Amino acid sequence: MKTLFQKIADREIPAKIVFEDDQCFAIEDINPQAPVHILVIPKRVIARLGNAEADDAALLGHLLVSAATIARERGIDAGGFRTVINSGRDAGETVPHLHVHLLGGRALAWPPG
Ligand code: 5GP
Repeated sequence: MKTLFQKIADREIPAKIVFEDDQCFAIEDINPQAPVHILVIPKRVIARLGNAEADDAALLGHLLVSAATIARERGIDAGGFRTVINSGRDAGETVPHLHVHLLGGRALAWPPG
């Protein structure tokens, strides 16, 4: 069965796709928590960071480099931005297909709730 994000990648569910290459794609979050809130998503499904293995290292690195590229394109790199990966129930994960949240465009509080 496809994940929600696989259905978006296959254009079965609409979303604003803002970046795509052979390994990943990025969409505007449907419920943005900051002026820029983008999800960077691998095409190969890893359910969550807690399941990642050594073989996933290059793909995980690619997601972060892609997030940085998008941050520069959106002009939020100078002010600063945050990347978040929620892994599992206590972190608030709601979609079991690993994704990197890219948040920016305003000052973000720390520590998180
Ligand atoms: P998580 O809670 O798993 O870390 O993040 C899931 C994110 O996916 C949430 O920020 C949520 O707003 C976003 N989301 C859930 N369903 C959809 C959808 O159908 N389209 C888009 N663009 N984002 C979604």
